[in-house]
Amino acid sequence: MKKALITGVSGQDGSYLAEYLLDLGYEVWGLVRREPETSRWLAATAHRIEFVYGDLRDEESLAVAFQKAWPDEVYNLAAQVFVPTSWECPAETFDINVGGFARLLRIVERQKPDTRVYQASTSEMFGNVEANCNEETPFNPMSPYGTSKMAAHRLAAVYRNRGIYVLGGILFNHESPRRGPEMVTRKITRAAARWVMGDRVKLKLGNLQSRRDWGFAGDYVKAMHAMLQPDTPNDYVIGTGISHSVEDFLQQVLTELRKICGSSDVPRSIEDWVEVDTQFLRTGEIHNLQADSSAARNDLGWQPSVDFAHLVKMMVEADLASLREVLGAKTAG
Ligand code: NAP
Repeated sequence: MKKALITGVSGQDGSYLAEYLLDLGYEVWGLVRREPETSRWLAATAHRIEFVYGDLRDEESLAVAFQKAWPDEVYNLAAQVFVPTSWECPAETFDINVGGFARLLRIVERQKPDTRVYQASTSEMFGNVEANCNEETPFNPMSPYGTSKMAAHRLAAVYRNRGIYVLGGILFNHESPRRGPEMVTRKITRAAARWVMGDRVKLKLGNLQSRRDWGFAGDYVKAMHAMLQPDTPNDYVIGTGISHSVEDFLQQVLTELRKICGSSDVPRSIEDWVEVDTQFLRTGEIHNLQADSSAARNDLGWQPSVDFAHLVKMMVEADLASLREVLGAKTAG
């Protein structure tokens, strides 16, 4: 039975990846900073995962976790992931996103150099590019977050040259009902659910014309696993190839809400619901990101199974259901 160690197992991608690897028959070890029961997303699988406590900033805890798991594959998904926080705390972002990965690689090289390592790289490394980005597109990150991920991605290449099986999956934005609530898509679907339940507060957002290539996280964790299977490690770009604006996302949310709730409880228009707030307009903002995943499609046979409309539907339904559950519990209490 293959063994995998996942850092960031309590997050969106970590929880989907754990489920996927368990289904494939893996023994799954998850690095956590606190009680796994505090992550809603692990509730269904926690009893099947071996948890080890650790922090990417603490090499000793990583070494102990690694020794306990003794993995065939490591998926380094833990990170400080939020771009605005990376401007507030750039040094901490680097310590976690670059230092943490450097600590892990040193442990792998010293303890078990045949371990295969996946690094969670990101489209934020590209910055503003007019064309669809592939593995050859030059990096031009626009934030401390993007820069930290680029440094870690380069570090992976350096260790690969030294013989370690390590690669960076350059993933474009991927969402799900498990997406962090601070991220724009989830901020929108949560606000939509609150509106329908009677909380008619305007939603404040930044640039509505910002475009991203949004896919479903459950599809993307399959690509992570597929990347670690070939004999030779290679970086791959993963995305749907289609971008949508924040305004498109809002419009799709309204469409889905009308189907679910009828028109009366739903905002009449984006203008009635959303207010552009200059505090969310960012310097160095990336206006458009779109993937060219032909290499992953050709080499790994990977392709997304969930389109934009289905993704939005899934997120709206989940946030409505969870808010109804909370309000129901309050009423019952
Ligand atoms: P997420 O839901 O925010 O999860 C982040 C995880 O990192 C959490 O489990 C968190 O643990 C853990 N973590 C943070 N700091 C840590 C530290 N110092 N030590 C140990 N664990 C720490 O993020 P995600 O969306 O699943 O993203 C997973 C990875 O993919 C990240 O590296 C991200 O940069 C990368 N990525 C994501 C996307 C995307 O669109 N989602 C796109 C490209 C790349 P706690 O629960 O303890 O906070």
